Amino acid sequence: MEIGQKFNTLTLKEYFFYIDNYKKYKDFNTLGLYRSIVENEKLALDEKLTVREYAHKTFKKTFDFLQLKDPKTFVEVEYLGQELTKGDEQKIWDDIRKSQQSILEDKKIKHRNFGEYSKHNCGYDTCVWNGIMVRQGSWLAESSMHFDSDKNKYQQKLKSDKRKSDRKRERQIIDREFETE
Ligand SMILES: [Zn+2]
Repeated sequence: MEIGQKFNTLTLKEYFFYIDNYKKYKDFNTLGLYRSIVENEKLALDEKLTVREYAHKTFKKTFDFLQLKDPKTFVEVEYLGQELTKGDEQKIWDDIRKSQQSILEDKKIKHRNFGEYSKHNCGYDTCVWNGIMVRQGSWLAESSMHFDSDKNKYQQKLKSDKRKSDRKRERQIIDREFETE
């Protein structure tokens, strides 16, 4: 079966239903689920937090893995609704850097398996993402995008199309690593 609608249009009840029955739906995607919590416009903040906690009961391990796989989504979901100071952000990304290393070490994933990954290096010494492992071509890997985000919509569209295919390929690689536990 397929869910056949976007996660970010689901109601609270529908989220519960699909999380409970995720094995039946071949288009169920855990990263998509977590990302949609941030994007969903039907849910109030407290409902989003409820969905997050409910999802964690089943997918916490996968969620923690997002620190490597998609750190931006991880941070957005983990700190949803919280007001963060610059200092908080610095601390958060320091922690992500450490977690990325321990995920790689724990899983004995050799860096060669992450050929599409590289360290964020935009040239700004003060950037909170310095040293964060990012997928090549991903939002965090683009050197200037986080400084002037919607300067060139067309370029972004191109990048986002490329990102979708990159993400699919990279997901296959990592899911394989992840499922060999
Ligand atoms: Zn940067």
